[in-house]
Amino acid sequence: MSVITHQDWGARARELAVPTQAWINGRPVSALSGTTRPCINPATGAVLADIAECQAEDGDVAVANAHEVFERGTWANMAPRDRKRILVRWAELIEQHHHELALLESLDVGKPISDCVDIDVPSAINTIRWTAEAIDKVYGEIAPTAPGTLALIQRLPLGVVLAIVPWNFPLSTTAWKLAPSLAMGNSVVLKPDPKTPLTALRIAELATEAGLPDGVLNVVPGDGPTLGKHLCLHPGISGQTFTGSTAVGKLLMQYAGQSNLKRTFLELGGKSANIVFADADREQAITWAAIAGWYNSGQTCTAGSRLLVQESIYDEFVEAVVRKASDWQPGDPLNPATRMGAVIDAAQQQRIHAWVETGRSEGGKVLCGGEPIQPAAMAGHFYPPTLVRDVHNQMSIAREEIFGPVMVAIPFATAEEAVRIANDSSYGLAGAVWSRDINTALRVAGGVRTGTMGVNNYFGGDITVPFGGFRQSGNGRDKSMHAMNDYSELKTTWIEY
Ligand code: NAD
Repeated sequence: MSVITHQDWGARARELAVPTQAWINGRPVSALSGTTRPCINPATGAVLADIAECQAEDGDVAVANAHEVFERGTWANMAPRDRKRILVRWAELIEQHHHELALLESLDVGKPISDCVDIDVPSAINTIRWTAEAIDKVYGEIAPTAPGTLALIQRLPLGVVLAIVPWNFPLSTTAWKLAPSLAMGNSVVLKPDPKTPLTALRIAELATEAGLPDGVLNVVPGDGPTLGKHLCLHPGISGQTFTGSTAVGKLLMQYAGQSNLKRTFLELGGKSANIVFADADREQAITWAAIAGWYNSGQTCTAGSRLLVQESIYDEFVEAVVRKASDWQPGDPLNPATRMGAVIDAAQQQRIHAWVETGRSEGGKVLCGGEPIQPAAMAGHFYPPTLVRDVHNQMSIAREEIFGPVMVAIPFATAEEAVRIANDSSYGLAGAVWSRDINTALRVAGGVRTGTMGVNNYFGGDITVPFGGFRQSGNGRDKSMHAMNDYSELKTTWIEY
């Protein structure tokens, strides 16, 4: 297999065609106002393209088209096997454009090209293909009613679904929303984050090429507080699915209440506990503590940002994780050897650093990182892998989601204490426990109230299992057959004979 070098990626980036227009009713369109917004490469500061900046009026056009095609039944009433065929074809087209999409994602988000090639694009392909293949295997139910009656229970599409996604995993999050909502026969209006619209626009074009009827999938890049809010309040939208911050998730529930009670499914922030016992496989636990905290520059809702270490090994374990930081020094995302790319923008870099300063002032000791850095020949925004020790769980650096490569190390004595600390959080999204004692591992895994818990692994899971949070980490579930439920209504037909 040919290896694509740093130089090759650079050359490809210079020749790459970047989508610039919204995708409405099966074609590229400019914003009605003609407004555009520059799309910036976070690693270099270069303008990648000027992208149509949609406003409320563009959102209205997208919703009208989505609604019209839904009412016509072109997609909603298509035989499940035919919907499946089109979505499988879509997954194939994304696969054929694997490297192009990986490059778009890397340039748009500033994340390492190797991660985009190996993780983000395959995740999107797998999500769409797996979900598509399930479409004609979903059966309804017949209820156990009395003789003389027949009660049919069906899952029907909601109508027009609004999907709002963030900038940290734009492609894979978009696929998690689009695959099940389209599979169930809904029409969709997708609002990507204005900082990272590129892969969403490109895969929408590929969906049309795959045969998705016009108007079924519309992508409107634009601002959250204006366009996003307008769509969340829109009476033509029956369901909204969101990944992003807890603060904005709370607003979406208000918008639903102020408008038409549209079904609202939220995937929000996290402050997950990665719990290491003294008897853990030390090498594995060290390697994965670094990955859990620093992968994707820590801009990961499931990051293992609270490293809980049993006190008997606390000093040596923390030192060993710090030694791993040398493997994670930020660099050019287009270099296949780079493990850590940029952070999304200057504001995020400042926010991360402000949290580190708060941690210092609260008594935390920064063992590595802790100051913004500038890799050679890069003009964007970066933050190095950072670990803060001597942290206790009441410090704000242990409670607030930083969304940067900053891990805090908290000691614990017993399994009970580890569970108590892990659960003492407004979030409950992910986490892991490391121990060779199956009893300890399962007791702790069972006790932590969180959406996904790893046992001797971190970031485990695939499309077959649901993903989402407890408490203020959200209320919806992406992935698996459970995701289909969010995008459908249950309907009973009661027959007497
Ligand atoms: P954000 O909430 O600011 O933005 C997310 C999206 O919401 C963007 O598309 C934005 O334009 C839009 N938006 C902003 N204000 C809006 C409003 N008033 N009305 C409608 N839409 C609005 O989040 P962010 O800072 O860009 O993303 C990072 C957050 O996302 C982190 O908190 C992270 O934990 C969370 N996240 C959660 C998951 C998950 O699955 N649980 C996954 C990834 C990221």
